[in-house]
Amino acid sequence: MSVRTHDVVVVGSGFGGLAMTHRLRERGIRDVVMIERADAVGGTWRDNHYPGAACDVPSHLYSLSFAPNPDWRHSFSRQPQIRDYLERVADDFDLRRSIRFGTELLSATWRDDIAEWHLETSTGPLWCRTLVSAAGALSDPVTPDVEGLADFDGPVFHSARWDHDVDLSGRRVAVIGTGASAIQFVPEIQPIVDRLTVMQRTPPWVMPRRDRATTAAERRFYRRVPLAQKAVRGAIYLGRETTISTFTRPRLGRAASSIALAHLRRQVTDPELRRRLRPDYAIGCKRILLSNDYYPALTADNAEVVGGLDRVDGNTVVDASGARREVDVIIFGTGFSVQQPVITERIVGLDGVRLSERAMTTDGALVGASFSGFPNFFLLLGPNTGLGHTSQVFMIERQVDYVAELLAGARRQGARRIEVDAARQRAWTARVDERMASTVWTTGGCRSWYLDDNGRNTTLWPGSTLSFLRSSRRAGLDDYRLSRG
Ligand code: NAP
Repeated sequence: MSVRTHDVVVVGSGFGGLAMTHRLRERGIRDVVMIERADAVGGTWRDNHYPGAACDVPSHLYSLSFAPNPDWRHSFSRQPQIRDYLERVADDFDLRRSIRFGTELLSATWRDDIAEWHLETSTGPLWCRTLVSAAGALSDPVTPDVEGLADFDGPVFHSARWDHDVDLSGRRVAVIGTGASAIQFVPEIQPIVDRLTVMQRTPPWVMPRRDRATTAAERRFYRRVPLAQKAVRGAIYLGRETTISTFTRPRLGRAASSIALAHLRRQVTDPELRRRLRPDYAIGCKRILLSNDYYPALTADNAEVVGGLDRVDGNTVVDASGARREVDVIIFGTGFSVQQPVITERIVGLDGVRLSERAMTTDGALVGASFSGFPNFFLLLGPNTGLGHTSQVFMIERQVDYVAELLAGARRQGARRIEVDAARQRAWTARVDERMASTVWTTGGCRSWYLDDNGRNTTLWPGSTLSFLRSSRRAGLDDYRLSRG
């Protein structure tokens, strides 16, 4: 069978995949195929449809710069609206014709002799000169390997694969985890379940959420005066950007923790419950959560907070202190495989090395995207590109522009093979590590998914997004070895 070689294959059709394809086309790189394992666009905003799913970054900012949306219904959008927005972006920018739905990347192997990536997908082989993974950092849900779970006789599911066929009304439900996802669905299910047992290993810092519905007049105004929406977006961006010092200079976190503790005091009057819910590490060390209804849900008569899940014994969940609760349903809000994304297992570079052996090592990645030994490959939201204070879409768009500029530049020079210089990559990562040392993520006294087994932060950018913009602009084609292949 003959297979045509495409210029670029992009894996995933969430924020990253859609933006990447659009920006490549703008730069004249039009032979782009997006492969998507699901049957719709949207990435994490398609998959996370648990009750109450919403974004904790204001909508005017949590959107693509080239696709403003005057019609946001809330200041913090709900998942269905963000998903609809991404569907619309796919239509408005004519991106659907580049997408192959129901096509999962099984393996990608670099052929250095002909400077091509050869992909095996669930719908057949696919070849390309450049491969971009926009598979996302939060795409592989993790369910802990808990003793006895296999023998539990009842529904068990993860928040990122919510089973809407399971009727929770009148059931006894255990929720495992108290992260960003759990605190959103707990208040939604608490009023309908018979008994809610929240299994908390570490209490999160929770701040008030300043959400409101937008008015029709406001939406009309933004539709008529797009510049006004741009100005609001800019103001939100700057407001958020200034909060980075809470993370980079932990002493400044005191003001934020006072607000969060006052929120806890206001909403939880029972001293014992309050004590359980009070974090004992610096604010910001784990993601700061925003909610007005999480604490009230925990104070309801049918709710209780016990320790983290230790094991399951028949239909009884047992916490770390040995407390036992018989339940009908278990819901895991236990997050994602961030340190070892599944896709990195499937990408094989020079000398047969898998990306999983390199991705989250001390070598890091230049601009969080480029790895030596993996020519013509870019990973969006790769090492040290996560944020704790503002919109992740900013980082995605900056990486997308960076990759598109590189590829267009390489093309102008007639290069078919482009590989980052290993020393430049390491120097980038050394600077990241140096700046990370004094941040709250390192010094805050918590164990978060930002850190690898050695306590090294492999996931977050250690500064403002403006500093990422500046650093990534300094990194250019000079950092790469170009050849005709
Ligand atoms: P997460 O933040 O990783 O939280 C996982 C939770 O599960 C933690 O509370 C963790 O406890 C707990 N856990 C793990 N194993 C456990 C066990 N055996 N027993 C009890 N608890 C256990 O995952 P997530 O809530 O899905 O959020 C992941 C990320 O997605 C967020 O940080 C955020 O970036 C993003 N997100 C954003 C939004 C939003 O914009 N609003 C919403 C959802 C998700 P420990 O803390 O002790 O590890």
